[in-house]
Amino acid sequence: MNRFLFCLLALLTVSCGPTLKETDYDPAGATETQDRPISYEVKRTFRMDKGRVSFSNEYSGARLSAVEQTGPDAYTLTILPENEPINKSAWYGFQVWGTSPRQLKLTLSYPGYKHRYVPKLSTDGSQWSPVAASDLVLDTTTFSLTFPVSITEKPLWVSAQERFPSDSVYAWEERIGREHEGVKLCLGYSHLGKPINLTNFGNLGSSNWIVVMGRQHPPEVTGYLATQAFMETVLGESELAKSFREKFRIVMIPMLNPDGIDLGHWRQSGGGVDLNRDWANFHQPETRAVRDYLINTVAEGISVDVAIDFHSTDSDMYYVFTDDMQTHRQGFTSLWLNRIRAIIPGYEPDTEATDMASPSAKYFFFNELRTEFITYEVGDETPREEVTQRAEAAAIAMMELMQ
Ligand SMILES: [Zn+2]
Repeated sequence: MNRFLFCLLALLTVSCGPTLKETDYDPAGATETQDRPISYEVKRTFRMDKGRVSFSNEYSGARLSAVEQTGPDAYTLTILPENEPINKSAWYGFQVWGTSPRQLKLTLSYPGYKHRYVPKLSTDGSQWSPVAASDLVLDTTTFSLTFPVSITEKPLWVSAQERFPSDSVYAWEERIGREHEGVKLCLGYSHLGKPINLTNFGNLGSSNWIVVMGRQHPPEVTGYLATQAFMETVLGESELAKSFREKFRIVMIPMLNPDGIDLGHWRQSGGGVDLNRDWANFHQPETRAVRDYLINTVAEGISVDVAIDFHSTDSDMYYVFTDDMQTHRQGFTSLWLNRIRAIIPGYEPDTEATDMASPSAKYFFFNELRTEFITYEVGDETPREEVTQRAEAAAIAMMELMQ
């Protein structure tokens, strides 16, 4: 090839490639999604005060990097991210117990980062309650958080959010699949070899699909609680749900990032990157698995009408497509938000137009599938009954509009 032609082709290739942009809350380099090293935490039990007090990170989803005793029954717990630069979502999780009942003063320290999640406590790992706001002391210089806990001989769980490791998500997926004639497929495997599953519900012969997905970002547990409430409403016994399921195939991909969840990551996958910035370049096996499956179905004449991707952030927020975006359900989202307002009087959903230059999942769903895509963000500390109520309303609103 002559040199001029080669340069012209090179120029065309560059100028035709995707223009990707980091969002204002992304750290530098978030859209470069080739594998990056992660530091694996050493799993251990920290025996403090001559063995009178113990802290452990020896379970999946835990994160506790170091422990230092700073006074009688006072401890500073250092929490470090899996790699850097990273989104500021300081996840932590550990167990603490003593040789006899006592009250401790714990300080969570995130060197270089701010405290984000109100600590949740549990004695059994399934029932959780947040530490009372009046007990939390935030240091406005170091952004560390100090709070009291009462410990006994039995381990107390202390966690940034309720704990839902990958095995609990697989178990839930299995259970609702069994109860509602779901057909499960394994789309592929995560970086560390965990299944990325999809379960089909409803009319499997329908060419019109709804996609529900989540858990790209490990700490975003409230998004998972919303996914459960949303799916259980769509799979419910109401006449509305039954007739919806006769018309549509509902495709659920509840967990994109099992590695990050089980490693107690703040943000990243087993490959050390933000999976929700990999939907243009597809360097990671988790995003590739979903893309390959959906791209093939479109070639078979399937229309992925609507997709909802569940996440969490400071407060409830929906990133939405504008009415002028040409999708299979153009204008759906505005109508859907109006329906939610009507179902929950007084609830005013916070919305923002999606940034189409950021290579998150909507980038792929819009550009390749013309899907009407909603990024459904649930507040970190939204009362859990409101998380459920709003997700149920979101499911009802969708089904009513798509009759
Ligand atoms: Zn997220």
